[in-house]
Amino acid sequence: MSGSKEGLKEATAAREGLRRIVDEALARGRDITERGEAIDEHQVHSERLAYIATETAAVEALLDYAAVGAAHDPLAVEEAIVFTAMVAARAQAQLGEHLERFGLSAPLVADALGRPEIERFVRAGLADERIEALGAQVLERGGTPDSYLEHDEERMTRETVRSFARAEVAPLAQRIHLEDDLVPEAIIAKMAELGFFGLAVPEEYGGQGMGNLAMILTTEELSAASLAAAGSLITRPEILTKALLAGGTEEQKRGWLPRISSGEIMVAISVTEPDVGSDVASVKIRAEKGELGGRPGYFITGAKAWCTFAGRANVIAMLTRTDPDPAKAAKGLSLFIVPKDPFPGHEFVMRQPEGGVLEGKADRTPGYRGMHSYTLQLDRYFVPGENLVGQEGRGFYLQMGGFAAGRLQTGGRATGLSQAALETAAAYSRERSQFGQPIGSYQLTRYKLGRMAVEIAAARQLTYRAARGFEESSSLEPAMAKLFACDVAVRTTQEAQLLHGGWGFAEEFPVCRYVVDALVLPIFEGVKPILELKVIARTLLR
Ligand SMILES: Cc1cc2nc3c(=O)[nH]c(=O)nc-3n(C[C@H](O)[C@H](O)[C@H](O)COP(=O)(O)OP(=O)(O)OC[C@H]3O[C@@H](n4cnc5c(N)ncnc54)[C@H](O)[C@@H]3O)c2cc1C
Repeated sequence: MSGSKEGLKEATAAREGLRRIVDEALARGRDITERGEAIDEHQVHSERLAYIATETAAVEALLDYAAVGAAHDPLAVEEAIVFTAMVAARAQAQLGEHLERFGLSAPLVADALGRPEIERFVRAGLADERIEALGAQVLERGGTPDSYLEHDEERMTRETVRSFARAEVAPLAQRIHLEDDLVPEAIIAKMAELGFFGLAVPEEYGGQGMGNLAMILTTEELSAASLAAAGSLITRPEILTKALLAGGTEEQKRGWLPRISSGEIMVAISVTEPDVGSDVASVKIRAEKGELGGRPGYFITGAKAWCTFAGRANVIAMLTRTDPDPAKAAKGLSLFIVPKDPFPGHEFVMRQPEGGVLEGKADRTPGYRGMHSYTLQLDRYFVPGENLVGQEGRGFYLQMGGFAAGRLQTGGRATGLSQAALETAAAYSRERSQFGQPIGSYQLTRYKLGRMAVEIAAARQLTYRAARGFEESSSLEPAMAKLFACDVAVRTTQEAQLLHGGWGFAEEFPVCRYVVDALVLPIFEGVKPILELKVIARTLLR
């Protein structure tokens, strides 16, 4: 096998074998889980299916990219070959451990993945020297070459955002993290000026209408500079934008989208409650119909948890229960745009002249600082009727649609953070010497850097593919991108930290921030097990 187009040809048999195994395993899984109805009786296996299907999708995305990008990205083919071999080897091991549970026969597995040419491909693809050589390239370049983008507009977006992020965000990122500060207004103002809040808002509503890939490229570059103080800032308007586009009235779209797009209003998203997390259909906070000074609207009372950016935000997109009958579950939920004043600190109290109160107190977190995540208490907080997005009872569906867009973006956030970790690890490995040599000269260091680069490339291409194909009804691909890219970010940042030795544990080193920032990625927008079971497995097994 060679690191050339020839190698890609050899990868095709492994790719096809993986696809065959996944399709057959999902077909058996549908029988076992009664087309997804009985996933809870088979959670462990359903998680396994979700993961192997996700990794296979990443193999396909990366191989397709390598076929096109080979002429432009000097590492594309090697990364694709190594990743395909990694996933094929992992699949073989899993099948060996759980063959009966997969419901597959040994001859089928042998034919799909155990043929001599595939086994040869896997062994060659995973050869230590090969991965080490990739790592050596990473060291030499201080990272990986830019991935190939077909269109000028995409390349320009990446360049513009990168120069902004490096010049204006990166120098502040460490201080914001260490001092647990709020994102400086200067960053928000500059991002607004550059149109970052309206990238996915259609032009007719005042946005850039640039589509989802531009959004991902933007998020990726901003997150490489700071996940919390830049990359995650555009996720919130994106979630509300998608909900408004899917379910808002024309008047609401015309009223809100231009203001979101211009950065005039900052958005927070509030779904989680102190006792309600993954089981979103059980949201309890009540919105009761009423009138204030002759104005029809709703009074919201109850508690919310983990509402990121709620202090600085001008509006909170809040999922509430409008139908008091708990049996209505998701059908009793409605989405409101709750206006409030912006507050700079870790605590705030917003009092309405007529007596409504909205209080917020930020919970201390080891990472993901810069926006602060608040527990909220609302007491008869009045929201005008026209701030109900669409109609009563549609909130859950609009929120879930918004989350799909959010997850897609989180694939980009995780990839950007991973790339930053790789680059800092490469730089440190060149500078740091032990036993008389730079640590980057050691085989194991280069091997680790090589593996990191391979996984990041796969996460990136899986996310880009999900972005290119994203539609209002997409939920599977964004969830897969989020699942895989966030795991890669956790692994990559920890490897990068280890390569920094004790200095990786010193707060003043950015890699320490990358580690704690990455830890939150598999938690929000559907904590990892829920994403695997309730989104990916459920979609694949129905
Ligand atoms: C820093 C940070 C910022 C956040 N920002 C926001 C925000 O802006 N807006 C917002 O609304 N939320 C936000 N969240 C909340 C986040 O979305 C939730 O924490 C997440 O959805 C999980 O909910 P939970 O914490 O209640 O965990 P739970 O739902 O209690 O889950 C805990 C664990 O229980 C297990 N579990 C639960 N249900 C099942 C099941 N059916 N099957 C198997 N296992 C199960 C899983 O292992 C899961 O990991 C944020 C969280 C953090 C930490």
